Amino acid sequence: MKVRDDIRVVQVPETTPLRPVSTNIYLVGRASLTMIDSGVREDRYSQAIFKELVALGRRRSVSQCAITHSHPDHRGGLPWVLAAAGPKLFAHPGAITIAASEVAAERFTPLDDGSTLETDSARFEVHHTPGHSADSICFFDRERRILFTGDTILGMGTTVVKDLPDYMASLNRLLALEPGTICPGHGPILDDGAKVIAGYIAHRNQREQQILDALRRGPQTVARLVSRIYAGVDKRLHKPARMNVRQHLAKLEREGRVRAEGPGYRARFELTG
Ligand SMILES: [Zn+2]
Repeated sequence: MKVRDDIRVVQVPETTPLRPVSTNIYLVGRASLTMIDSGVREDRYSQAIFKELVALGRRRSVSQCAITHSHPDHRGGLPWVLAAAGPKLFAHPGAITIAASEVAAERFTPLDDGSTLETDSARFEVHHTPGHSADSICFFDRERRILFTGDTILGMGTTVVKDLPDYMASLNRLLALEPGTICPGHGPILDDGAKVIAGYIAHRNQREQQILDALRRGPQTVARLVSRIYAGVDKRLHKPARMNVRQHLAKLEREGRVRAEGPGYRARFELTG
């Protein structure tokens, strides 16, 4: 599918709610293509990419591949892409360390915060946006206000967060870019990117409020909080939901607004005030 004349997206269908609708692999450029993310290391992903490349014709080839972070549904296809086209590889230094189990670290050019990724049709600013993972980066075409977000922003639903304070800082940073189009790692392409990001920020603040409200009724375990707050949500999402609630509680604990009593998963959380 065409996003712009020089930007195509291969959307591989998904059924897991953690990868809403599709896993997206982008091809940017006119003659030489820059691939953003590489899908899972499974045939159906490499076949979908291959099909798109065939449709684009032989005169275009993949000369670069950059990944948004180290999770297997974004870096998994690298060995295949490397064998098929031998592109230059780019990733955040943290992602390179993790990907090194499958692709030698020397093959990569590190993309730190503030660096740029040049393609033959666009120039991308690299923004380090930890939160979903420590090694998440976003690519921003400032001229056209197009933002490639990996799993930091999804085309649908919300993402799993590993470090909430980091994630909130990253969202605020992306909001300040005032992006128009968002090209996410999963799901549909979004217009009005700044509004979407503001919505993500509001959603997290609302979750925090829900947790505080629930704790006002007395001490609760994480499991109890999840079954209350996520009552209407697909059960397959309750495990990541527990992780998100734990993140919120850790943040509130750090802020001195909540304290924990008891060990591990049996810990009960209560308001300090
Ligand atoms: Zn993903």
